[in-house]
Amino acid sequence: MREKCGIFGIYGHDLEAARLTHTGLWTLQHRGQESSGISISDGNAIQTHKGPGLVAHVYDESTLSRLSGHIGIGHNRYSTSGGGSASHSQPVTGHRNLVVLAHNGNLPDTSRLRKFLENLGVDSTGANDSELMHAAVEHHLSAGLGLEDAIRACFELFTGVFSLLLMTRTQLAAVRDSRGIRPLSLGEVGGGYTFSSETCAIDATGGKFIRDVRPGELIVVDEAGLRSTQLAEGDEKLDIFEFVYFARPDSILLGQRVNEVRRQLGVNLAREHPVKADVIVPVPDSAIPAALGYSQETGIPLDFGLLKNRYIHRTFIRPAQSLRESGVRLKLNPIPEVLRNRRVAVVDDSIVRGTTARQIVAMIRECGAIEVHFLVSSPPVRFPDFYGIDTPKPDELVAAGMSVDETRTHIGADSLAYLSYNGMIRATGLPETRFSTSCFNGVYPVAVDGSIRPTVPR
Ligand code: AMP
Repeated sequence: MREKCGIFGIYGHDLEAARLTHTGLWTLQHRGQESSGISISDGNAIQTHKGPGLVAHVYDESTLSRLSGHIGIGHNRYSTSGGGSASHSQPVTGHRNLVVLAHNGNLPDTSRLRKFLENLGVDSTGANDSELMHAAVEHHLSAGLGLEDAIRACFELFTGVFSLLLMTRTQLAAVRDSRGIRPLSLGEVGGGYTFSSETCAIDATGGKFIRDVRPGELIVVDEAGLRSTQLAEGDEKLDIFEFVYFARPDSILLGQRVNEVRRQLGVNLAREHPVKADVIVPVPDSAIPAALGYSQETGIPLDFGLLKNRYIHRTFIRPAQSLRESGVRLKLNPIPEVLRNRRVAVVDDSIVRGTTARQIVAMIRECGAIEVHFLVSSPPVRFPDFYGIDTPKPDELVAAGMSVDETRTHIGADSLAYLSYNGMIRATGLPETRFSTSCFNGVYPVAVDGSIRPTVPR
């Protein structure tokens, strides 16, 4: 199970935790549309509500008013092809309801965790990585440890990628793996504290962003206030794909506004690959800032020749290729007047399987474009991801098996250009060492299971 999810947490005595968590999750909807869940504590008991679908569908007024309390955590789940089983929705509660857990990330290797539980006689058959982590923390809590010590005791069993929120009846905790591959930020709201995968959700709840949770850091909030402990030395390697595609443009990651980094990706793409075109057309919504940057740098006008249906989600994660292809048609519709008799340069943020690009080029040609140039504001995705993006199989990655020119032929474009690796790094304004760039260069900062081997690029 690989999941790239959205998590949100809140602690504050005068706050309606369920409503604020609901707002936070709604703002983090882009990070997962498979299922959503909220756990709330009033200091005496934990209540959880979770279900499949979008935030808008999972909760209604009566649910939110029933979830009364001042501590809360929430989770939006993004699951991979075939991984849509409702039984794994989060927060993880377990049978005893001592602690609830929300996880963004993936533990590629859970053998130590399984062994630990096995030795205790805990049956972990069918449990995923998040459920295993929950079981380990729960074990220590039932043995009498406090939440802080329980997490500390488990930390070295958590071998992989995790931004976690945990809640007991009285405490809220946030913890990040020592590489900080998935984001997690801390904010304050109404005299209390909030944690969120992205700062945009802190904004939406009326809170103020304080700082990122540090890689390897554990923060606990309770009656006594906020305490921070460094559980392991941090060596930050944020997944650069957060900047490329995943995060919302109004969020701040590593101190940089995502929108500005994406615009700069487009500027750098224009400097590296200027094309002769009459119009720049972004693939909405994620490529809009990069297309704007490309247009500003080249002086070629930007126009919205592709319209996105805002209410279609998850085309990327449909299991069957045939469904995925019709999904693109459903999601994007061309506006012929913008494209007809023009040399069109389309900008997208990434090519993964190539399905989207091929469909888009065909659509634009059908509208009577003279030429279609495809520009990508990131390098070719050549390597599978083990940290929570849905690109697990090398044979599904178009750039793992084809050269750029073969890919151009495959998608049917007159030209195809990708931003260089260095151009991408430069756009962030940060050194390469701050990032995990594994899907582009196959360098994995967190060890993956030995049985999974990345392909070698051509
Ligand atoms: P593909 O059709 O597989 O080449 O996917 C590329 C398209 O999906 C681009 O338009 C991206 O904006 C988008 N995309 C890239 N990564 C992801 C992801 N992890 N989940 C959903 N969509 C993605």
